[in-house]
Amino acid sequence: MQYNVAQLMKQRTGATRSYVVQSSLERLDPDIVAVDELTGELRAMRTVDGVLITGTLTTTIELHCDRCLRPFACPLELTLEDEFKPTIDIATGASLPVVAGDNGNRTDEFHILDVSEVVRQQILVTSPLHPLCRDDCRGLCMTCGQDLNESDCDCIEEELDPRWGALRTLLK
Ligand SMILES: [Zn+2]
Ligand SMILES: [Zn+2]
Repeated sequence: MQYNVAQLMKQRTGATRSYVVQSSLERLDPDIVAVDELTGELRAMRTVDGVLITGTLTTTIELHCDRCLRPFACPLELTLEDEFKPTIDIATGASLPVVAGDNGNRTDEFHILDVSEVVRQQILVTSPLHPLCRDDCRGLCMTCGQDLNESDCDCIEEELDPRWGALRTLLK
């Protein structure tokens, strides 16, 4: 996910350029299991200080359901809006200092802009905190661990019918 923005850096503020994105996310982060490529389109715009990257990218990652613990494919839509500052002055070749308060996104000394890190952060931010395989997932029985999406277990009937509870107390 690297783009050479040397030519764009030489243009005037407001100049733009588009990149079609189609990349594998396989080695992005050990905690991210991508089941699909990252696709979409990014727009790079020359700003006064650098390059602003905007665009919407989509992918699908594997998450584990909070209720039934099963893995499922979760589609994600990532919205990028990140400015990258140069490391080297495009005109003079001089090194540019890091400015306090910057977001830390910088192109490298060859004016290569790498969006991997902002994509990685967007995936983590966009991923649901409590992922559900579906809204009405019934989850696992707290008592016996049965996946209630597959079938009911006996624990539920006992809970629903207080007489079973009373009978069980008698049997003890
Ligand atoms: Zn589930
Ligand atoms: Zn049960």
